[in-house]
Amino acid sequence: MRVGIGYDIHPLTDGRPLVLGGVVVPYPRGLRGHSDADVLTHALIDAMLGAAALGTIGGHFPDGDPRFAGVSSLVLLDETRRLVEDAGYRVVNVDTVIIAQEPRLQAHLGPMARTLAGRLGLDAGCVGVKATSPEGLGALGRVEGIAAQAVVLLEDRPGGISRRPAAVRGARATPGTRAHRPGPPR
Ligand SMILES: [Zn+2]
Repeated sequence: MRVGIGYDIHPLTDGRPLVLGGVVVPYPRGLRGHSDADVLTHALIDAMLGAAALGTIGGHFPDGDPRFAGVSSLVLLDETRRLVEDAGYRVVNVDTVIIAQEPRLQAHLGPMARTLAGRLGLDAGCVGVKATSPEGLGALGRVEGIAAQAVVLLEDRPGGISRRPAAVRGARATPGTRAHRPGPPR
């Protein structure tokens, strides 16, 4: 068994859809970033990669790569699942929390959990998605952005490491351009 943690934060900006856990949440503003800036899915990806010691989201999906411009983070999650499984693990369960002053997310948490569970091949009961308010404190409290945290438990996959593709062997875990970093100000 292996455990991993992930954290991410993106600024809110006008003129973007708000995507959280693969679900478009009705709100006048969205998160800024190179991909769809889905902060919840990014935190989950980093937790999965961390649990498997496979580096970071920025190493696998650099924001300088045009393939990831505007891409759905669910596609990155699919690829992350493949990396983790190729390394000989499978996800047991996931727990997450979104830290957002606005909007109210309660009605969307179930759809987010089901969306993420579906992409990971898990029962919805194995994916927790919660939301909490920063109570007006700090940048998040001033509605300047939204953050998310995730924790993931992995177990050995039956058969263990069956193959280790070049994508794993050559994965760059170096800091630098990161797909989930905010883009330049607009
Ligand atoms: Zn991100």
